[in-house]
Amino acid sequence: MIASPVSEIWFVTGSQHLYGPGPLKQVEGNSQAIAEALSASRRIPYKIVFKKLLTTPDEITQLCIDANAAPQCAGLILWMHTFSPSKMWIRGLTLLRKPFLHLHTQYNRDLPWATIDMDFMNLNQAAHGDREAGFIHTRMRLGRKVVVGHWSDPEVQDRIAAWMRAARAWQDWQGAKFARFGDNMRQVAVTEGDKVASEMKFGFAVNGYGVGDLVAKVDAVSEAAIDALIAEYAKTYALAAALKAGGARHASLRYSARLELGLRAFLEEGGFKGFTTTFEDLHGLTQLPGMAPQRLMADGYGFAGEGDWKTAALVRAMKVMADGEGTSFMEDYTYHLSPKGHQVLGAHMLEICPSIAAGRPSVQIHPLGIGGKADPVRLVFEALAGPALNASLVDLGNRFRLVVNEVKAVKTPKLPKLPVARAVWECLPDFKTACAAWIYAGGAHHTGYSYKVTSEMLEDFATIAGIEMVLIGADTRLSDFKQTLRNNEVYYHLAQGIRA
Ligand code: MN
Repeated sequence: MIASPVSEIWFVTGSQHLYGPGPLKQVEGNSQAIAEALSASRRIPYKIVFKKLLTTPDEITQLCIDANAAPQCAGLILWMHTFSPSKMWIRGLTLLRKPFLHLHTQYNRDLPWATIDMDFMNLNQAAHGDREAGFIHTRMRLGRKVVVGHWSDPEVQDRIAAWMRAARAWQDWQGAKFARFGDNMRQVAVTEGDKVASEMKFGFAVNGYGVGDLVAKVDAVSEAAIDALIAEYAKTYALAAALKAGGARHASLRYSARLELGLRAFLEEGGFKGFTTTFEDLHGLTQLPGMAPQRLMADGYGFAGEGDWKTAALVRAMKVMADGEGTSFMEDYTYHLSPKGHQVLGAHMLEICPSIAAGRPSVQIHPLGIGGKADPVRLVFEALAGPALNASLVDLGNRFRLVVNEVKAVKTPKLPKLPVARAVWECLPDFKTACAAWIYAGGAHHTGYSYKVTSEMLEDFATIAGIEMVLIGADTRLSDFKQTLRNNEVYYHLAQGIRA
């Protein structure tokens, strides 16, 4: 996957000098052992390094400054093996700009009931030490994830792993650049948004480019480079007969390859992590890019159509969480409203990522009803069956909201006349509740769709970003959901004022 960040999590233990050097050495050793065991676990996606045992306000402050300045540090795990008076943490936590997880664990799993003495009691104090820490986190209104249980417990490690994936996606967004070719699809509201507010909140930049800048890159692609890419296509996909060398439409495939190489050159030279196109602004391009965004998404780029930069950025973040697997731009396209079960057919004009394909995609060419350009080449395939989710990031004017719906993707029926990649799913808790909740929440028709990203990762991600997330899942009841939306209107309006 392109430009995936190098990430590590810093494991930090709090204590104080009250205990003397002997016990502190033991606290440090135990912390090191936990960090190493977590890091070695196959459930943990990347490195956890024990950083330091902290016993004074100055040490804590310096550690937080160091974490802010370390580009590889995606976040911190904090644990209070003993008691660490939490006023010592105020200065450091005020400065800390990295996400943190509060791990409420204990070095020993079982208590040695027959031998337990006051030395043991004084060394293993997380039960109360972590409560002192939790108070100051709550008192300072700090967003964080609290994970409870023994560090060897697989369930505990899964909670940590989900947060680590969210933290890495957040790290990836900081300083990221997204290119917007042309502007928004005319008159469309939900794909618009405040790019200034977004950069302040999320840390990524979205900048517009004239499609002519892209045309220059596309025109500069060499015939030899196109030959090589066509050979790769022939190896990877089932090519429609007309698109093969000597076929009547082979020139269209060559142009599609040219588009991919031009786009790739533009994105690589500019260091972009994603992009948007719009079919209303293609001046100088012969086809709407179809197969090109599909293949670029498969390499880890975020993408969305019609100038939808928020979804492009979200797709990129979800790809980082998913290590590039099973994640695509998606659109709720049309419904199957049978009394036997309601389903959604998801697709787009062209641009669905082959990382969600159930089999080998075929390369096809068909007319496109809109845009007034030549017939575009596209990858056609059916998506996988299994648990998945849709996520949408919307700008409500005073804040951003992440809307998530857990779904069950089903085997796609045969659709011999449909010339695009497609997915079919059933919404949780049921179609009517899910769609009503989604619409009350203002969720878009564009989403990030994934089999690998979980609602837990997105909840952790929203907490790190400090934005609202609403989940539509198995337990959603519409009346409660509507009340949550009303409550959140007030909470997010007032929240800035209650932090002091
Ligand atoms: Mn669309």
